[in-house]
Amino acid sequence: MSSLRLRHHNNCPRCPVIGVEDIPGEEFFEILSLRFNIAVARKLSASHDLVRVEPLALARWLQHARILESHLWHLPTNAGHGIIVTLPAGCGKPVIDGNHRAARALRLGEPFFAVELSESETLELLRLSMSPAIADHFWKRMLASRPHPDDQ
Ligand SMILES: [Zn+2]
Repeated sequence: MSSLRLRHHNNCPRCPVIGVEDIPGEEFFEILSLRFNIAVARKLSASHDLVRVEPLALARWLQHARILESHLWHLPTNAGHGIIVTLPAGCGKPVIDGNHRAARALRLGEPFFAVELSESETLELLRLSMSPAIADHFWKRMLASRPHPDDQ
C-alpha cells in the first residue's frame, strides 16, 4: 500500500516535499502579529545591492529565530542571500528569509549577505502580505511603541 502522506527530502520538515520541488508554494515569515510574503519580498528586493550582515547582530537575531539544527546541513551551498526588513521606531530588523543560511554561515565563520528593505519598502511589503488595513494598524502600533534596548 502506498502512503498518501507527503514526504520531505531528508525526512526534514524544512526540506522540499519529494516530487514538488519545482512548484514554489506561498511562503510566509511570521513574527509577532506581522506576516511577510517571501515571494513579494523577493520582488521588492530585486534591484537592491547586497550588504554583508554584521556577525554579532546576526548572532543576536538568530537567538530568537526558529532554527532546525539538522536542516542547516541540507541547504545547497549556493543557496543565495537573505532578506532583512526594517521595522519603524527602532523595533528591529528581522531576517525574514534565509535564517537557516545565516545560521550555517555563522557556524562556519562565513560571511552572510542580505538585501535590506527600507522602512517604506517594509510597510509596502506588509500591506501586500496582509490586508493593508491590518498592516497599517500594526505599523502605527510599532510607531507608537518605545524601542526595546535589545532592538538597537
Ligand atoms: Zn532539511
